[in-house]
Amino acid sequence: MRVLPFLLVLALLGVVDPAPADAARSAGWDYEIRFDEGLRRADVRLCFRRFLPKRLVLGHDDAHGALDLTRRPGAAGLVRRGDGESYVPVGLRPGGCVVWSVDLDALARAGRWRKPASRVGRDLVFAPGALLLRPALWTSRMDVTVRFVLPEGTRPAVPWPLTRDGSYRLDRYALRLEGTIAVGRFEIERLDAAGARFDVAVLDAPHRASREGIRTWLSKAAGAVAQLSGRFPVDRTLVLVEPVPARTPAVIFGMAMRAGGPHLRLLLASTARDEELVGEWVAVHEMTHLGMAWNYDTEAWFQEGFVTYYQEILRGRAGLLSEQEVWQNLHDGFGRGRRSGGQRTLSRESRVMHRHHTYHRVYWAGAALALRLDVELRRRFPDRWCLDDLMQLWERMHGGTRGGPATGLALMRAADRRLRQALCVPLATAQLESAAFPDLERLYARLGVQVVGGRVVLRDDAPLASLRRAITAPKTAVSAAGR
Ligand SMILES: [Zn+2]
Repeated sequence: MRVLPFLLVLALLGVVDPAPADAARSAGWDYEIRFDEGLRRADVRLCFRRFLPKRLVLGHDDAHGALDLTRRPGAAGLVRRGDGESYVPVGLRPGGCVVWSVDLDALARAGRWRKPASRVGRDLVFAPGALLLRPALWTSRMDVTVRFVLPEGTRPAVPWPLTRDGSYRLDRYALRLEGTIAVGRFEIERLDAAGARFDVAVLDAPHRASREGIRTWLSKAAGAVAQLSGRFPVDRTLVLVEPVPARTPAVIFGMAMRAGGPHLRLLLASTARDEELVGEWVAVHEMTHLGMAWNYDTEAWFQEGFVTYYQEILRGRAGLLSEQEVWQNLHDGFGRGRRSGGQRTLSRESRVMHRHHTYHRVYWAGAALALRLDVELRRRFPDRWCLDDLMQLWERMHGGTRGGPATGLALMRAADRRLRQALCVPLATAQLESAAFPDLERLYARLGVQVVGGRVVLRDDAPLASLRRAITAPKTAVSAAGR
C-alpha cells in the first residue's frame, strides 16, 4: 500500500508511466482523434502497447489523398509503400506512436458512390476506416481503444462500447468492415422499443418530420422486426438519421452495418411527414439485416433476398400492411425482378450486381426463394418449422460477427442437417444455377393468390390458404416449436 504514493511521486516527476495499469494491459494500440473547431481537420495519434506493426492499412480506397503524413517531433514517421495500399512506420520503437492528420474537406469530396465522408449541415458523417490507419495484423486478442478530443458542444455517435475511462473499444472488424460514425452538434436520444435500446442521432439538416414522429417510426419498425423471433435481434443499436433534400420516397436509402457494433444509417427525405414514415419499408429492411447471419457480399441473393421477403411479411404481421398489401407488394416486387437482368444465373448475377445494377433481379429472386422455402417448410413440417426458425438458427451460427462470414450454401446445408432432410440445398441450388426468374404461378394457385389485371385478390378456398394466412399472422399465433 506504501508503494502507491511512491509511484505517484515518480509519475509526477515523469519517471514512470503515469498510468501504471497500462503495463498490465494486453497487446494492442490506442487512437486519439483530435478535431479542430470547424471539424475541418482531424489529428490522429496512434500509440502501440507491446506490439509493433510492420504495416498499416487504410479501410477506404478513396481516402489516401486526404492524409497528411508530415513527421512530427516525438513520433515515428510513416511512409506510403509503392503499392499505394499500405504505410510503413519508420523509427517506431516499443511503446511509440505514429501521427498523421486528415483533411476532412478533402475526405468529404473524395469518392463517388461509396463516399468516405459527407457533411450533413454542420455535422460530419464518415467511415472510421477512412480516417484511422490500422495494423494489417489485428487478431481477436488485441486490445484497441479510441479517444475523441472534440470542440465544445460536439459529440461522437459511434456503435462501439464505451470503456470506464471514457474511451471506446474497437473489435477487429470495427475498421475492416464497412461502418459509419458521426461527430457534431446533434443530441443522442435514447429510444427503448421492442425490448431493445436504440441510440438515435438526427443529424443537422432541415427536415419536416418531428422528433416524436421519428421515434414512432423507429419504434414501429423495431416492433415489426421483433415479429421474426419474438425479440429484436440485438440489444443495442446506433441509428444515424440523415435528413437529405428530397421529396419522395419518405426514406431515400438505408444501410445496416455490423462493424464494431450494430448500427444503421437512414437517409430521411427532408419533406417527409410523420404519417409517411410509419410503416415504410426501409427501416424494417435494415433492422432485419441486424438479425441476419453474416454472409459474403457476393451473395446478395441470400442476405438481400431473404431480408426483402421479410420486409413485407413482418410489416404484415405487425399490422402495418394488410394481408392483401403484403402479397401485392411481393407480387409487384417479383415483377420488377423478372424484368431486370436475366442473362446470367442468379449465382453469377449476385456477384456482378453492382456492376450491372441488376438489384431488382437479385433481391427479388432471392425473396422468391425465401417464399418457396417458407411454404415448403410449413407444408412438410406443420406447426414445427418455418423460415423464421431457420433465420434464428443461422443467426445463432453467424449473427453479428460470430463465426465470421458464411457462404449461403453452407447455411443451407446446416439447415438441412437440422431438418434431417434435403430441402434447402436442392431448392437453393436449382435457383442459383438458373438464369430464369422462378415460375411462381403454381405456388400462387395453391396459396390462393390470384392476380386480376395486376391486382392481387386473396382466395380462402385454395388448398394452402390457411398456410398463407399463417405467414402474416402475428408471431404469438404462429407456433415457434421445432427448435
Ligand atoms: Zn438490404
